[in-house]
Amino acid sequence: KRVLITGGTGFIGNMLCREMLKRGYELTVLSRQSADKVRSLCGQVEVIADLENLRSHPGFDAVINLAGEGIADKRWTDQRKQALRNSRIGLTNTLTEIITSWGQPPEALISGSAVGFYGDQGNTLVTEDTVPHDEFTHRLCRDWEDAALKLRSHRVRVCLSRTGVVAGPGGGFLQRMIPPFKFGLGGRLGDGLQYMPWVHRDDVVAALIWMLETPEASGAYNVVSPNPATNREFTCCLAGTLRRPAIFPVPAPVLRIALGEMSRLLLTGQQAVPARLTDSGFGFSYPTLEKALADATS
Ligand code: NDP
Repeated sequence: KRVLITGGTGFIGNMLCREMLKRGYELTVLSRQSADKVRSLCGQVEVIADLENLRSHPGFDAVINLAGEGIADKRWTDQRKQALRNSRIGLTNTLTEIITSWGQPPEALISGSAVGFYGDQGNTLVTEDTVPHDEFTHRLCRDWEDAALKLRSHRVRVCLSRTGVVAGPGGGFLQRMIPPFKFGLGGRLGDGLQYMPWVHRDDVVAALIWMLETPEASGAYNVVSPNPATNREFTCCLAGTLRRPAIFPVPAPVLRIALGEMSRLLLTGQQAVPARLTDSGFGFSYPTLEKALADATS
């Protein structure tokens, strides 16, 4: 089967490409990077530099859409917020417009989203039916999802991955968290009672492939582990895994001053559970934080 992937070079995308190649898929990756660099990250894939090249390049059985500027990479100035929106909503709108011009639409579009869709949920147990809190991450994810859902009216099955905070070796948010812990300078953020809906990268890759290969799958799925942890629990477990203390909490006002509105990513959260994946019988390879962090920090 032929699959087009955007964001294929990313932390999630490159593992997804490698796993799909093992399973015999033929992959085309949309990337701003050189073909050699993309292949060094993803394996033997076809590389496309511009979405416009796809107008004369139909014939895909499915599309997986993960591209987007890093949400936690820079302070959320108005300009940065626009870049976060354009690289997701703008790109997805162009992608769906091109797909609708193909005579034969793909069977499925699996598109990215995040638990940020729900906004700050305090201690509420968050399933796919939870009413979201209106804030920047909600509007970003909602509009990104809506751009993908437009393909439904063209008989394309659309699945949305509301992904949690992804833990895996050699990248993601853990790569930034581990160094201070290694120096014994780790600690909880704010009061540490906010939830961190973590998920291991292997389980994200498995969930995306499950959505692709399950004809009945459609709509939004929380792609998070079945055991959400608070920041305090996460911090203790990470310190234990690294055999270091976690005695330097970072007060909330310090984070607010240092990061501005982006501090909400660290100081608020969702006690999200994978209700629809679990109901469908999807099994997690890393259901517990201990097992996930042992692998992610190895
Ligand atoms: P990465 O940041 O590792 O990779 C994102 C990819 O998007 C890059 O490979 C890049 O491809 C592409 N990209 C970035 N900016 C642009 C742009 N301006 N225009 C076009 N393409 C761009 O992301 P992850 O793999 O970690 O995540 C994949 C998706 O899942 C992201 O959209 C992210 O928001 C979402 N997500 C991730 C979570 C996480 O914890 N990792 C949590 C929740 C959601 P290239 O450089 O090849 O062009």
